[in-house]
Amino acid sequence: MSILVINAGSSSIKYSVYETKTLRMINHGLIEEIRNHHEGFEVMRGHLETHDIDITQIDAIGHRVVHGGERFHEPARIDDDLIHEIRSLIPLAPLHNPANIEGIQAARAIAPNVPNFAIFDTAFHQSMPPYSYRYPLPHDWYESYHVRRYGFHGTSHHYVSTQAALILQKPLEELNLITFHIGNGVSACAIENGRSIDTSMGMTPLEGLMMGSRCGSIDPSIIGYLMRETKMSIDEIDTILNKKSGLLAIAGTNDIRSVIDAKNRGNQNAALAIDMFVYRLKKQLGEYMAILRGVDAVVFTGGIGEHSPLIHEMVCEGLEHLGISLDKEKNRACETQIHDLNTNIALLVIPTDEELQIALYVQKLLLS
Ligand code: ADP
Repeated sequence: MSILVINAGSSSIKYSVYETKTLRMINHGLIEEIRNHHEGFEVMRGHLETHDIDITQIDAIGHRVVHGGERFHEPARIDDDLIHEIRSLIPLAPLHNPANIEGIQAARAIAPNVPNFAIFDTAFHQSMPPYSYRYPLPHDWYESYHVRRYGFHGTSHHYVSTQAALILQKPLEELNLITFHIGNGVSACAIENGRSIDTSMGMTPLEGLMMGSRCGSIDPSIIGYLMRETKMSIDEIDTILNKKSGLLAIAGTNDIRSVIDAKNRGNQNAALAIDMFVYRLKKQLGEYMAILRGVDAVVFTGGIGEHSPLIHEMVCEGLEHLGISLDKEKNRACETQIHDLNTNIALLVIPTDEELQIALYVQKLLLS
């Protein structure tokens, strides 16, 4: 029997199928340019049938849901009330939650007897204390409009932290970790005794570190200033901050490989982009070292975190006084453990697997 994991975007459906007991992946695929999710699910049903998987006969379906607000601390079984609650969170995630809901509805329509579960990107960070998640803004903005930090990439931070515990051969509950998810989206997480106590993304995935095309944290006054000076609308500015900033704005591309190539050819903007990108990661590392009482490991994951030794080297450079020392040979050889063995803080490169983590959550829920 099997578990189907669904990541429904606005025009695509990414799916993976796992054997329920062993969590071995049996099948996966991506259906793009869908007109609607019901049609997309029909296409997926056809693909699965060619692999002898009958969607109406599987054990469960796990759905990635981007925003779970304050309500969801862990994965939850989906029913009509839960869909209603996810819908009520649309104002906080207008780009993502609607597509996630459409995916859930299509799944319920095509396989009415199969239980569905929602796994929220925000849930892992619900353990943050109020002094970490509140903004210094009027109480009413929090109470009436839910303005607070939620954090994202939670499934990824949780997955790599459990993998780090296996590598370090210690229970996760006894570990303090700093995890960096560095892909197109970039976020860091401070994990104390296995629980998230801070993360760099905020009310939306725009806050925090410099990203592929998102700016990360900036002075909020810039927005009002530019609206007054240029007469741009808030939507135009919002689009630029989310889609035309970050590495793309500074280097002309959001692909780190191209940025590094351009830097090596002497391109000044590419060099500046990498310096800015790394500077912010290094500052974040220092911040989290200050709030955690001792760190067992720093973990790199995501497309850049998993594949770019240059970024590891630049982030860790000059931090020996903090107990961080990278072994350049191991790093260049793309090993999992890239620290100098004489240091106490492990430096780990761990491929993330959000789909597998969702399947793990669903497996646990099926057994409970
Ligand atoms: P997303 O956040 O959209 O899931 P990814 O995690 O795939 O994105 O990360 C995308 C980034 O990872 C890009 O900047 C890309 O250049 C970088 N990347 C992916 N594969 C490699 C690789 N083999 N070497 C260096 N960088 C890579």
